[in-house]
Amino acid sequence: MDQDELDNFAEKIVNGSELSDDNILDLLSIKDKVELDKLFYVARAVRDHYFGNKVFLYSFVYFSTYCKNNCSFCYYNCGHDIPRYRLSLEDIERLCDGLKGEGFHMIDLTMGEDPYFYDDPNKLVEIVRTVKDRVGLPIMVSPGVMDKDTFRKLHKNGADFLALYQETYDRELYGKLRRGQSFEERINARKSAKDIGYCIEDGILTRVEPDMRSTLTSLRGLETSDPDMVRVMTFVPQDGTPYEGSEPGSSDQELMIISILRIMFPDRLIPASLDLEGIDGMVHRLNAGANVVTSIISSDSVLEGVVNYDRDMDERDRDIKSVVKRLESMGMVPADQSDFNKVLGM
Ligand code: SF4
Repeated sequence: MDQDELDNFAEKIVNGSELSDDNILDLLSIKDKVELDKLFYVARAVRDHYFGNKVFLYSFVYFSTYCKNNCSFCYYNCGHDIPRYRLSLEDIERLCDGLKGEGFHMIDLTMGEDPYFYDDPNKLVEIVRTVKDRVGLPIMVSPGVMDKDTFRKLHKNGADFLALYQETYDRELYGKLRRGQSFEERINARKSAKDIGYCIEDGILTRVEPDMRSTLTSLRGLETSDPDMVRVMTFVPQDGTPYEGSEPGSSDQELMIISILRIMFPDRLIPASLDLEGIDGMVHRLNAGANVVTSIISSDSVLEGVVNYDRDMDERDRDIKSVVKRLESMGMVPADQSDFNKVLGM
């Protein structure tokens, strides 16, 4: 496609055109760098139509690394004998004081499926209420599959967004990834949250799929959950999992899928996570059509990320000031809080 054709393609998407399965498979089979750059261009044009040069920033607080599950792709699976932590309410209060006024649009409170909170969900409700009272910002929770009553209480006490990733909509692959967990329960939990009034985030893993059809199934599956935010993350082989020692792959596939997601979900939030490749990786993801920076933590943070590219580094370079500086060098800026609140329907 030449420049005019690319612009026409972006315009058609903005005007409501949708990709067929064959279109998606064609895009997934792009190998040529020039063709890939054209896909990124279209994705950026679509994103800019809805969001201009404005980016949303989420602070990441991984407050418990305990988990009762045994996901085959995850470092924190219950079978992995690692040091774990669970922050106390006082620790979280102190942390909140450092987040206030820093420029975040939302606080992402993440935990494994920690039995401590499953035995007494009111303890989790208390954390959400405390963070809301202290920081006053929208809150995203990622507590896993909890019952509707708990979701309702969390929402009533300040949780606005629920992140719950299916990882894949290919059932066979799901069984291998989220070992021992129900495919339907996860979908139903997301539906319950939406009924209650949450915005929801769904997401998929890439580089684990057996073939392109599996990726297509996942992309179509994401549509069925009608997410407000939609994520793709590259699978990274983690210690303490069946994949330990496998060669890590590149993030090229993730970038391509970010662009396809932007074309499929033109006006939704799409994250550029700092957790895989730090700020350089953020730039690539934004250039592929993302519009949210996630997993921002302070440079002296001792808390975990999910993949933790920087686990062994002395100093972590994914704090909000470094992020904003790099955004500005790209001609992008943090959005106003009112822009984000509009996305949330507040
Ligand atoms: S992905 Fe989440 S639910 Fe699965 S083992 Fe890791 S922390 Fe637990």
